Amino acid sequence: MKEKEMEKKSYERPVIKPLNSGLMNKFGTRTEYTPVTHIDGVSVKSLIEEYGSPLFVFSERKIRENIRDAKRIFETRYPKVQFAWSYKTNYLNAICRTFHQEGSWAEVVSIFEYHKAVSNGVPPEKILFNGPDKTDEDLRISVKNDSLIHIDHLDELYRLIEIAGEMHKKPRVAIRVNMDTGVYPIWDRFGFNYENGQAWDAINKIMAGDKLNLIGLHCHIGTYMLTPSAYGIAASKMADLALGIKRRYKKNISYIDIGGGFASKNTLKGSYQLGTDAVPDISEYAEQIAGSLLNAGFDTDELPYLYLETGRALIDDAGFLLGTVISNKRLSDGRRSTIMDFGVNILFTAFWYDHKVSPAQEFSRFTEDTVLYGPLCMNIDVIRENVTLPPLNAGDHVVVHFVGAYNITQSMQFIALRPNVVMIDLKGESHIIRKAETMDDVERNERIPAHLENFKL
Ligand SMILES: *Cc1c(COP(=O)(O)O)cnc(C)c1O
Repeated sequence: MKEKEMEKKSYERPVIKPLNSGLMNKFGTRTEYTPVTHIDGVSVKSLIEEYGSPLFVFSERKIRENIRDAKRIFETRYPKVQFAWSYKTNYLNAICRTFHQEGSWAEVVSIFEYHKAVSNGVPPEKILFNGPDKTDEDLRISVKNDSLIHIDHLDELYRLIEIAGEMHKKPRVAIRVNMDTGVYPIWDRFGFNYENGQAWDAINKIMAGDKLNLIGLHCHIGTYMLTPSAYGIAASKMADLALGIKRRYKKNISYIDIGGGFASKNTLKGSYQLGTDAVPDISEYAEQIAGSLLNAGFDTDELPYLYLETGRALIDDAGFLLGTVISNKRLSDGRRSTIMDFGVNILFTAFWYDHKVSPAQEFSRFTEDTVLYGPLCMNIDVIRENVTLPPLNAGDHVVVHFVGAYNITQSMQFIALRPNVVMIDLKGESHIIRKAETMDDVERNERIPAHLENFKL
């Protein structure tokens, strides 16, 4: 602490609290409330002073560390690995380009994301195009560009066969496969089912038609999957299909895409343990996947590439949301509630995660159970139903952790506009990667019919 700060201690309201001499609560002694005053060496206070509050902050260092770790973990277990960045997880261009600089291709689930990847400079033949909604026009664009088209259903398959014929091209395709991996409910709404023969039906149709070049098999078995063994089962079933295609059609499948879904370190609501304790390490997923593929019976020189579309596990902990206390209130039952300046409109994942929240300034050792509300005039705007925090005063700052996945892409201008997003680079310099919205951004596409232009009140 600097000397100046030592002289005058900031005021902290007193708390009266019953002494609990019994057992610890089910979480034991939680260390959730240590202050977080800096992110990558940059002070939270100075970031808020410069860019406003609330504020999303991304750590470039953490993103690079995450993808490098994941690559190392997979590459030490399997010889042919390719990551593709899942655009919908976070498609801010600066984030995508960080992953592309680290060698990741692009995984997209709409033509909008497809165009984003192209304009970020991803070679179209390194774009994996997933999703159930590809129009004829979308398919034509990806056929022309030789992108990798992952077929979701039979109607798409037939349309693509027709388009390939019209265009006199043989598109490179994979089929999406869904299956029973022992985790329920099964995600069976996407792709062709393994157990009931749909996957083979699609494969046979592609091979017999000879209009499409089946080079891959794709699956994405779920999200925030806590069971690594499910990936072992998925990889075995995919390998079984690939080996079956080899036997039946003498064709080598060049890649098996295992999708994403590895859990991030976030804590699911209702979970007994913190995410940081409960969530498997990426190496546990890798061990399962690599083991299944290596033991499936491929000839060594015919091992398929392993593609991975990991999203949340690579970005969640690289994103922070900084915010400021608006006010404190006692609820009618006596509980303390604190109103923050950020709500569920920008922290969408608060609906299913208990986000870790840290005060951004020093405080004494007293804590109290608190409800954290957002600023929206809506009952659903709850950041944490119950979090143990030291008393915060209006104007104090907090840091919300693990917000990097899905919040930027799912946030909305509901009641309030969306704030600045900055990235801290490897030298500790901060850069705006998306500017705070203005009213003009939101109203730009609105039109007012002539008869509604004027009114008198
Ligand atoms: C969303 C998605 C991903 C990324 O999922 P995470 O759970 O964030 O890892 C990967 N592949 C496909 C097809 C997806 O839809």
